[in-house]
Amino acid sequence: MRLARTAAIERAPLEAAELPPPVPAAGEVAIAIEACGVCRTDLHIVEGEVSARLPVVPGHQAAGRVLAVGPGVTGLAVGDAVGVGWMASTCGVCALCRGGRENLCPNATFTGRDRDGGYAERMTASARWTYRLPAGFSAGEAAPLLCAGVIGYRALLLSGIRPGGRLGLFGFGASAHLAIQVALHWKCEVFAFTREEHHRRLALEMGARWVGEAFEQPGVELDAAVTFAPAGELVPLALARLGRGGTVAVNAIHMSPIPSFDYDLLYGERVVRSVMNFTRKDADEFLALSAEIPLRARTETFPLAEANTALARVQAGKIDGAAVLAI
Ligand SMILES: [Zn+2]
Ligand SMILES: [Zn+2]
Repeated sequence: MRLARTAAIERAPLEAAELPPPVPAAGEVAIAIEACGVCRTDLHIVEGEVSARLPVVPGHQAAGRVLAVGPGVTGLAVGDAVGVGWMASTCGVCALCRGGRENLCPNATFTGRDRDGGYAERMTASARWTYRLPAGFSAGEAAPLLCAGVIGYRALLLSGIRPGGRLGLFGFGASAHLAIQVALHWKCEVFAFTREEHHRRLALEMGARWVGEAFEQPGVELDAAVTFAPAGELVPLALARLGRGGTVAVNAIHMSPIPSFDYDLLYGERVVRSVMNFTRKDADEFLALSAEIPLRARTETFPLAEANTALARVQAGKIDGAAVLAI
């Protein structure tokens, strides 16, 4: 399902296309994709809020099996269960790459943006940026871990939440419904703020201590918060729920403007920080943790040909958990 021209999702901009089978270059693998998660970032790409090479096959939560290995690939073999995430490559030589912050590499390329991704039957990917799927997970169960899951995990790390702490989650989509499982595993108390009634129900069902809308007061000060919805007005609301020294981690690649707010909301050494991509270390840690917990994604599955519908339902906030294309 390929994007040639960006447009509002109601206009179904993704079109089925017949492409030549991809051949892995040196250092790459070819993958037979079995499932691909649908991410809000795909929606931003399709609608033009995040710029991409066009035409492009979106999709950066691809899970499947290695079909062929290119020259020089070690450690992966034909038939291995693998997944590909958002980061497709980094330069490996800049100060950020060398300093353990490859997620910030200014020369990075991205799956389903700079090269064809997982809304397809086959793809190629750099072997260095291809992960082994955790044991016991089908491709459909593992796909949402590859972006929604890992980025949510990194957001939890950057929020500074400690075991047993009080954590606020603003928005309760694919990423938050995985992050809550990690937070509960860390014995945190979770407070979920979301305007969708069915998302509040899901959060309670999954173990949230409290649910409400973003403007509501849970009655206690939070130690940390993560915002997932791309709505700038959530940032001051999240800050206002934090105790001194607390951090709001903003898990969004694109966001509406953040309204101005009184300095008092930030004073007390509160912090607002964004979350950008993830490192391979984050992915390895998170995938191991997913198997240990074990983490269970709730998914709504669509055939590949219905990628436009799946994206429209993500935009409308209609999905409980994660949308996944079955291929
Ligand atoms: Zn770099
Ligand atoms: Zn994503």
